[in-house]
Amino acid sequence: MKSALLREYGGPLTIEDVEPNGLQSDEVLVRIVGVGLCHTDLTALKGDVPLPLPAVLGHEGAGVVEAVGDGVSTLAVGDHVVLSFDSCRECAACTSGHPAYCQLFAAMNYFGTRLDGSPTMQQGSDDVHGSWFGQSSFGTHAIASVRNAVKVDKDLPLELLGPLGCGLLTGAGAVLNVLRPQPGQSIGVWGLGTVGLAAVMAAKAAGCETIVAVDMNSDRLAIAKEFGATHVFDPTEHTDLVWEISEHAGGLDYTVEAVGLGSVIRQALETLRSPGTCATLGLQKLENEITVDQGHLLIGRTLTGVIEGDADPHTFIPKLIELWRAGKFPFDKLIQTFPLDKINDAIDSFRSGQVVKPVLLTGEEPQ
Ligand SMILES: [Zn+2]
Ligand SMILES: [Zn+2]
Repeated sequence: MKSALLREYGGPLTIEDVEPNGLQSDEVLVRIVGVGLCHTDLTALKGDVPLPLPAVLGHEGAGVVEAVGDGVSTLAVGDHVVLSFDSCRECAACTSGHPAYCQLFAAMNYFGTRLDGSPTMQQGSDDVHGSWFGQSSFGTHAIASVRNAVKVDKDLPLELLGPLGCGLLTGAGAVLNVLRPQPGQSIGVWGLGTVGLAAVMAAKAAGCETIVAVDMNSDRLAIAKEFGATHVFDPTEHTDLVWEISEHAGGLDYTVEAVGLGSVIRQALETLRSPGTCATLGLQKLENEITVDQGHLLIGRTLTGVIEGDADPHTFIPKLIELWRAGKFPFDKLIQTFPLDKINDAIDSFRSGQVVKPVLLTGEEPQ
């Protein structure tokens, strides 16, 4: 199998031969068909996540199960799966339906090895750090497990489904699982990458009447409109954005902040009506101190943080697919595909904002 290795923080990634380090009893070997690029991959690529090198990133994989460990009963060879974040499925958070807040989340998603410390991949006698979000799917194959591989129907366009495992689930989950707007309510979304645009689509699907979208990229504002945004704002064109939004859209019941900057979080908080809730999702780096004025919170407002849309991938990914089938979650419009060997070009186009969601194809057709 081949994987895109990160040998030095900053990159570039190099496609190299690697060998899987056996399959544990609950693991599956997945032949990757398509894998999305997500901002957390770039955060790790820069070295802002203490991932040991060499490592393989990629955490929005979709593919076909090629082999299963001896304890696997819920998946079989040939099944089509979408890979999501990993969680233990046993702690209090996991068993109460909140695996994104798993007690072992960091160890299972960011450390580059299995929980027992073993690597999932090797090159000769050298360890290659995999297990990134329980998958490391920038390659022709990935080792995942029954915990984070979600079976999907074979009639779906498998090569496009990977982003359902992280970016799309994050934005849609914040709206549908956490904020839960009622039909007729209002919402604002800051930052129109995959996460923000998924939040806009989910808000429309939930029946929000007023949907405000904010981004500096006019192409993204146009996509947001197509997805149901009723008011769009380029913050560079307004000296007092909070006032402008309140003037044109009224106070908002909910806001979603998918940027992670203090100035943006404050805007998203200040445009809320009272009471109202702002969800912050944007991850800039592991330490990111922000300040807010207590006066903006005291009037019954809530500022909450959400990881991975507070979703259980095993129930939420099928729900998003159902919405897509109904024409209410047209995420495929955000995707531009690249062959795996053009991964560094895909990263450049993603960084520059040219492409909303690059998806790398391994070149092999799903069966
Ligand atoms: Zn857990
Ligand atoms: Zn992600």
